[in-house]
Amino acid sequence: MKEEIQDIPKIVLHIHLDGSLDVKLAHKWLLEDGYTYTLQQVESKLQVGQDCENLNEYLEKFDIPCKILNTAERLKTATYQLFTKLAKQNVIYAEVRFAPLKHINKNLNIDEVVQAVIEGMNESKKENTIYGGIILCCMRGNTKEQNMQTVETAKKYLNKGVCGIDLAGAESLYPTKDYEYSFNYAKELNVPYTIHSGEADGISSINSAINFGTKRIGHGVRCIDNIATIQEIIDRDILLEICLTSNYQTEAIKGKHPLEELYRKGVKISINTDNDTVSNIDINSEYERVLKETNLTINDIIKCNYNSIPYIFATDEIKEKLKEVYKELI
Ligand SMILES: [Zn+2]
Repeated sequence: MKEEIQDIPKIVLHIHLDGSLDVKLAHKWLLEDGYTYTLQQVESKLQVGQDCENLNEYLEKFDIPCKILNTAERLKTATYQLFTKLAKQNVIYAEVRFAPLKHINKNLNIDEVVQAVIEGMNESKKENTIYGGIILCCMRGNTKEQNMQTVETAKKYLNKGVCGIDLAGAESLYPTKDYEYSFNYAKELNVPYTIHSGEADGISSINSAINFGTKRIGHGVRCIDNIATIQEIIDRDILLEICLTSNYQTEAIKGKHPLEELYRKGVKISINTDNDTVSNIDINSEYERVLKETNLTINDIIKCNYNSIPYIFATDEIKEKLKEVYKELI
């Protein structure tokens, strides 16, 4: 089974750079910065335990990565390392997201942050067969000015490594409806977008995302509470970026995960990890978990990947190339 999973050509659309930071790299950089943690201590600081109760606790695991990804060189290395790891897991296309403003400091402005991440991605693309782009996250709790700056930066680097924007952060504390301006601005500038919603908040958050005209929703799993919302997602042709393990850890979902039900009802879903390091998983282990905990087959997972191609933030040329890969498999 493990080999079959490894062999699936994968499309990863929802993975956070800072939440997927390699533990050994983090340890090395912490030592450089004068901390005396052991590798094990770093591990426990970056990964959630069994006792994680909600998204807010889960988000605390981003504190250290945001603090140590504080130079262009580190941002570049972390991005290079993540894309290279994904390529080794037979990921053929990846959109990696992060919030650039979390990494600015007196020596590093937003342009330098974004350029470093793009460089890391490009370096990995040179050595591996992987396509992809960077999604810049606007943050819940940030000022309007900050989020507008993030959208503007996405526009500046669009098609030069950046492929879209997102809205991330504590959904239960900062409702989605308050961030309409980000997506109006993205629409105005022709910047593609996805929106975290229906994770720590419910139907009203998903409805806001739908009303903003999104074609993709990060998580969206709480739509399971309302059949009309599920239908709306199908009718409006929206893809859900599903992250099973993460949903259990943030307690977005308790009991049976709705991914199979949504898939069977005709919702387009893409299976993702959200944060490899925070959850101590990778895309292969996540597929394995889906196969274990649902009745979905390897073929269903291949189909989910193939069906997500129209929703990726890439050129038609890349979409065609990706479709070619699945030709013999579908
Ligand atoms: Zn996420």
